[in-house]
Amino acid sequence: MRRFDYAAPTQTFEACALLADRGEEACALAGGTDLIIQMRERGRAVPLVVSLRNLADLKGISQNDDGSLTIGAMATGGEVTDSCLVRDHALFISEGAELLGSIQIRNRGTLGGNVGNAAPSADAAPPLVAAGACASIVGAKGTREAAVGDLMTGPGQLALGPGELIQSFTVPALPAHTGTRYVRHVPRLEMDIAVVGIAALITLEDDLETIKDASVVLSAVAPTWPHARTAEEVLKGQPVSEKLLAHAGEAAAEDSRPISDVRASAGYRRMMVDVYTRRAAATAIERAKAAS
Ligand SMILES: Cc1cc2nc3c(=O)[nH]c(=O)nc-3n(C[C@H](O)[C@H](O)[C@H](O)COP(=O)(O)OP(=O)(O)OC[C@H]3O[C@@H](n4cnc5c(N)ncnc54)[C@H](O)[C@@H]3O)c2cc1C
Repeated sequence: MRRFDYAAPTQTFEACALLADRGEEACALAGGTDLIIQMRERGRAVPLVVSLRNLADLKGISQNDDGSLTIGAMATGGEVTDSCLVRDHALFISEGAELLGSIQIRNRGTLGGNVGNAAPSADAAPPLVAAGACASIVGAKGTREAAVGDLMTGPGQLALGPGELIQSFTVPALPAHTGTRYVRHVPRLEMDIAVVGIAALITLEDDLETIKDASVVLSAVAPTWPHARTAEEVLKGQPVSEKLLAHAGEAAAEDSRPISDVRASAGYRRMMVDVYTRRAAATAIERAKAAS
């Protein structure tokens, strides 16, 4: 591992200034479960590492007066998984966070780091996109909001300016009769990277038999975390049935843009998108009914 300078500022504006001053030479460090591995095992040179560990305004999970939920970027996978607020608000955010590596990885790796690393196979980010979460982004010019779904522009690429950091994620209050589910397919049960991940959010009409709204977001089968727009349109306004879910699964497979690599071929991934979209949507529908 190459030598690097290390700073651990206590104020967010200081962290942003350090990152902005050193540009490409500097990188933010949250839990380090992606960054340190890139530096140690893949030879990535980062002359200045700026730790976010002392920044109080990037921490915590809280409910807001309007019913939305704010999750600090430095909330660890373990904190997100264990939070009753998160589980009650949108269970699939908890389910995505619970899949981050092992207990040890979850105790270090953060939600901000999962989004910040911008891996197409991320597990914690897609549920945020499906829930319509907004990121609060802090930089030298102040704070701005951006949809999490607009942040990732490609593998390892985030739409952040020089010195900008994600401060927190705000997940809007979800409508009545809503259920969620995040599922992934991995060859091994633990400590593996998703071959396919599906985040599904379904809202039912008052009759609990018709789909009012649907949000389906894909992981590991495209360069970003895209909505499966055709599948969403297939589901919206339709009565729940096996046939409908099968149709949505096929549509999601068409929406995906997988590649072949050492983990799976593009064709296999597409088939798994079909299967896992049906499963995720079916569980989200069950949960929407159970919660009503
Ligand atoms: C053994 C192992 C298993 C893993 N399994 C999984 C898995 O199953 N699923 C999965 O999705 N991931 C997995 N990971 C990857 C990793 O644990 C997660 O992506 C984790 O959420 C990264 O968080 P971190 O805090 O460690 O990020 P870091 O490594 O500290 O940072 C990652 C990137 O995000 C940037 N960043 C961090 N915080 C911010 C912020 N607030 N604002 C802007 N940029 C920021 C950093 O600059 C860096 O570029 C695994 C990793 C390991 C080592």
